[in-house]
Amino acid sequence: MKEASFYRKLDQGKVQCLLCPHQCILGEGQTGLCRGKQNQDGKLLAINYGQLVSISLDPIEKKPLYHFYPGKTILSTGPNGCNFNCQFCQNWQISQEKVPTRMVYPENLVALTLDENSLGIAYTYTEPIIWFEYILDTAQLAHEKGLKNVLVSNGFINPEPLAKLLPFIDAINIDLKSINPAFYLKYCNGKLEPVLESIRIASQHTHLELTNLVIPTLNDSDEEIEMLLEFLQSLGKPVPLHFSRYYPAYRMKIPPTDPEELLKIFQKASRVLPYVYLGNIRNTVGNNTYCPDCHNLLVERNGYRTRLVGIEDHHCNHCGREVDLVGV
Ligand code: SF4
Repeated sequence: MKEASFYRKLDQGKVQCLLCPHQCILGEGQTGLCRGKQNQDGKLLAINYGQLVSISLDPIEKKPLYHFYPGKTILSTGPNGCNFNCQFCQNWQISQEKVPTRMVYPENLVALTLDENSLGIAYTYTEPIIWFEYILDTAQLAHEKGLKNVLVSNGFINPEPLAKLLPFIDAINIDLKSINPAFYLKYCNGKLEPVLESIRIASQHTHLELTNLVIPTLNDSDEEIEMLLEFLQSLGKPVPLHFSRYYPAYRMKIPPTDPEELLKIFQKASRVLPYVYLGNIRNTVGNNTYCPDCHNLLVERNGYRTRLVGIEDHHCNHCGREVDLVGV
C-alpha cells in the first residue's frame, strides 16, 4: 500500500482522487469507483499497490502490438479492477469482480522479467491506469535494467499523471471503444473526450497502436467508422489500428460481429490508413504488415507465429522505404 500520487484533501477528512477524469470524492473509509484507491485517515492510498491478479508470458502480438518488437514475448500482468464498467467487457471476471490477488514488489517483478528473458513488462488484462503508483515504480526499475514497458489501456487518465508516466512507457495500445460520446456514457460509464486527448498526447511521446472492438449496431455504422478513421488521420502519423471481433460477454447479449461485416470495415479502413489489422477472429486477411509504398510483405503473421520477411536493417527490402516498426 502506498500514498496515491494525484489527489487533494478536502474539508471534513474527504479527499478527491485526481488520477482519472472520474475525480472520485471519497469520505473516510470509502473506496473509489475502480476499487484501487481508498481514503484512510484523510489520506488517499493506493490499496492495490503491487497486488497482481494474473501473470503470464505472452506474445507481444497478443496485446495487440504489431509494430513493436514483432515476434517477442512479454511478461504481462495487471491489477484487479477498472475505472470503466463496460457492458461488453471481455475480461469482466477480473476487471469488475473482486478476486484474490498476490503481492509482488517492483524489484521482484523486474527480477522475474529478467529470469523469463522477456522483452519487458506489459501492464494489461484489466485497467493498468488504476495501478499508477505501482507502474511508475516498476517501470523506472525496469528501464534501469534495460527492459521495455508496455501499457494496454482505455486511455481514461488525466493529462498530468499521463505526462508523468509516459517517459517510462515504450509502447501503448489504447482501446478506442467508439468515436461516439454517447456510447462511452451509456455502455462504459466513461467519457470519450479524455480518451481522445490521451491518444493525442501518447501519439507524440511513445509508440502507439489503437484497438476498436466492433459491436454490431452499437458502434459499426458507416458514419461512425468514417469518423473514427478521420480521427486517426488527424493524428498526423501512421498509427496502426486493430479492429477486434466482439463476442457476447458480461452483460452484453448481442450476437458476435459478422465476419463479413468486419471484413468490409477492414477494407474501408485500408483505403485510407496504411496499417489496419483484424483480431479475435480466424482470418486470412488483416494479419500481415505490408510496405505502404510498394506493398512488399514486411511481416507475416499466422496466429501468434511471426516472421520478418521483407525487412533489412529497418528498411523495406524491396523499395528501401524506412519501416514504421520499432525494434526491427
Ligand atoms: S483512479 Fe479510481 S479512485 Fe481515482 S478518480 Fe479514477 S476511478 Fe476514482
